[in-house]
Amino acid sequence: MLARESLRPTSQVAEDLREIARGLLETGDVDVFIGYEEGSLPLRTTPAFVTRADDVSRLVWGHACENNLAVYLPKFEGKVGVVLKGCDARTLVNLIVEKQVRRDRVKIVGVPCGGVIDRRKLAARLAAAAGGGRTARAASETEDGVILARGDGFEATVPVEEVLSPSCTTCTHPVPVVYDFLAGDERWARQVCPKEQAYDDVDAFMGRGADERFTHFSKEIERCIECFACRQACPLCYCPECFVDRETPRWVGRWRDLSDRMVFHLGRALHTAGRCVDCGACRRACPAGIDLRLLTRRMERDALEFFGYESGADLEAVPLLATYRRDDPDDFIL
Ligand code: SF4
Ligand code: SF4
Ligand code: SF4
Repeated sequence: MLARESLRPTSQVAEDLREIARGLLETGDVDVFIGYEEGSLPLRTTPAFVTRADDVSRLVWGHACENNLAVYLPKFEGKVGVVLKGCDARTLVNLIVEKQVRRDRVKIVGVPCGGVIDRRKLAARLAAAAGGGRTARAASETEDGVILARGDGFEATVPVEEVLSPSCTTCTHPVPVVYDFLAGDERWARQVCPKEQAYDDVDAFMGRGADERFTHFSKEIERCIECFACRQACPLCYCPECFVDRETPRWVGRWRDLSDRMVFHLGRALHTAGRCVDCGACRRACPAGIDLRLLTRRMERDALEFFGYESGADLEAVPLLATYRRDDPDDFIL
């Protein structure tokens, strides 16, 4: 039998979330509580906006709670309670230090995160298990991190650990760096990836030639259909008017040129430099399955290595791009 510490009892976390949400709504400490509820498909959740204590039973928790709920916070005027995983909490820290959200307006309910499912990986595993074009019709997860799926004439079990989102395998903060309440126990979070290993894939990629790297990103970006779902899903893309939507001057054309798509992606990557926390929301939202983590994480690593700046780790930090150091090796600024 597994020791309790090795389990991640999702139902206990859900119970704690409901109790905390009930207390906050009953006392009027929050006007709305944002969490997760069951979606309309198996193993799917959707954001829940709960305004009455009687409705907290809608709240759920598990490896399918992948949305980063911090994205909603700049849009709310009143007092908000919100469920945040480790990476989500770091995006909120950035929103607070960038003065987009007031800390005293938000009650943060942190969850010790066991990682979230990568749906493309899971779909591939289930398709292989089902075979012959059959699909899974029902799926659920167990308390100890196993997905059970059933379809016509087949059953499959897939350990969550084998279908985790890539961001979770390099996660350095599964427990939120800031919270008012913690649902569950810190020991139920997944293992922290050591910082010296977190960027091994970036280093390996940088070992390739410049042409090969350019070809890699060109191939990824070529598939972009400019739907901008990645921008909408990112809590840190909050500008009232995005540069891609500007008419004068027009930065990004709509003629499906690779160069236009490059401008969007490189522009967005630069706008999130020193801010991105690798929550994976943009990658999950992309209908084309585009993955630019090697680019965004390279900048995350550079911020850490050159400036000792870890995005979203410190509520007292001055944003990296809003400051300079007199001893900066590049003297062109001064
Ligand atoms: S990156 Fe970390 S905190 Fe975020 S979902 Fe994955 S394991 Fe959880
Ligand atoms: S750029 Fe993507 S990974 Fe980075 S914070 Fe935004 S949504 Fe998350
Ligand atoms: S979500 Fe994907 S397809 Fe849409 S703009 Fe972003 S990268 Fe392009």
